[in-house]
Amino acid sequence: MSETPTYIGFEEYSEHVPASIPSAVQQATNRFVSGRAARVAELPQWEQLRQIGSDIRLHTIENMDVYLVQLEEKIISAGGHVHWAETAEDANRIVIQIARENNVKTAVKSKSMATEEIGLNHALEKAGIQAIETDLGEYIIQLAGTGPSHIIAPAVHLKKEEVAALFSEKLDIHAPTDPIELARIAREVLREKFLNAKMGISGGNFLVAETGTVVLVTNEGNGRMCTTMPDLHVAVVGIDKVIPDWESLTVFLKLLARSATGQKLSTYTQFITGPRREEGEFGPKEFHLVLLDNGRSNVLKDPVGREVFKCIRCGACANVCPVYKNVGGFAYGWFISGPIGAIFSPQMLGTQAARELPYASTLCGACADVCPVKIPIPAILRHLRRRVAQGDAFALPTISTPMRVTANLTSLALSQSWIYRLGARLLPLINPFFRKDNWLSGMPYPLNRWTKVRPLPQFGASFRYWWRNVRSAKKKDSTR
Ligand code: SF4
Repeated sequence: MSETPTYIGFEEYSEHVPASIPSAVQQATNRFVSGRAARVAELPQWEQLRQIGSDIRLHTIENMDVYLVQLEEKIISAGGHVHWAETAEDANRIVIQIARENNVKTAVKSKSMATEEIGLNHALEKAGIQAIETDLGEYIIQLAGTGPSHIIAPAVHLKKEEVAALFSEKLDIHAPTDPIELARIAREVLREKFLNAKMGISGGNFLVAETGTVVLVTNEGNGRMCTTMPDLHVAVVGIDKVIPDWESLTVFLKLLARSATGQKLSTYTQFITGPRREEGEFGPKEFHLVLLDNGRSNVLKDPVGREVFKCIRCGACANVCPVYKNVGGFAYGWFISGPIGAIFSPQMLGTQAARELPYASTLCGACADVCPVKIPIPAILRHLRRRVAQGDAFALPTISTPMRVTANLTSLALSQSWIYRLGARLLPLINPFFRKDNWLSGMPYPLNRWTKVRPLPQFGASFRYWWRNVRSAKKKDSTR
């Protein structure tokens, strides 16, 4: 079936998480956080911009069909081709077909989360086409044979020493640990690839419906080379990236770079409207846009969950997340990590596959505070937790019946004070049956799922009983 990278669960991940990940991730994310704070402080109208960005995204989500049709018409009238891909397999098949029709053996790629989502590199490789990542971070993780661990900094989990060791091993050289030297080595290797590739593949940060323009926001210039040097350019972009017009784009460009890297504007902002018009102009002869659905239409039906598509992929939520900072991106199991991954993956993959993710949060709300388009991430996490536990119109519950019954009974006991008081009286009676060194460690199913990793303290007298005793003892003391 799908070329989509396999989902890795938390248990599997925790067995092989490299010890260096948290410190590498914390160093980088702390830099992003302080850069963002400085840029945001320079804009007194930041909160208004966030609100406008949020409103535009919501409006676009509600009218996506209209804007996508407008986008298609404009791209075709600019001489480009538009392909609609319902699934990841469809998208891969379309790209491979375009490559074969043009006798492509090697393609250069700029960073694209949509192509990570559909596993395009693997599909191309199987079809005998070599796809070379040209963003430095993506190039590093391609050599390492892993996926990205951060939305905007795919190799954020690696230290420079680890990158040097990787280059030495894979390129058969003695690579120094100086980052500038490492970048020079990668540039030298990649330059030749740019010159010889027949096809360039990119994603797209935004799709402007008004003119049929794909907008690419990058910092390395490789995106520009991928999309202008080869004669053929294919952009694979999720349908959620469409925005109405250029006026909207000015809002998102202000929000994106500040939130992502703490820049006022990214180094390269590129606008691609169809192929080159005339022979001798700079740019590809042929331009294709693959519009990727891959489950987005289903998510759009959920009025709460669909706010995930307001996302402009800045990564700010991951940078401030205490969970992400400590476990790194791979723990989220799919190409998109951090708080946005925790609300994106369960909706796209289904809660059967990604049911742990809505719980991978302290619900501290830091993500929602920094999100430039005001996605209510904690509210969506709670919405998805309910889906996991109780099921809803979109998915059946994924926790076992005994767990659900236990949760419902607990909820009943906590909402009826007489049941709570009776339970508090009765529970200490079970202590002798499960006690070991003053701890309860061998409780029966389903409680053993908790106690086998973390024993419970013994049940004592109820809090109310204890409090009454404390108060009456204090009263006695004060009257003496
Ligand atoms: S959810 Fe918000 S903060 Fe996180 S990546 Fe998306 S836009 Fe950025």
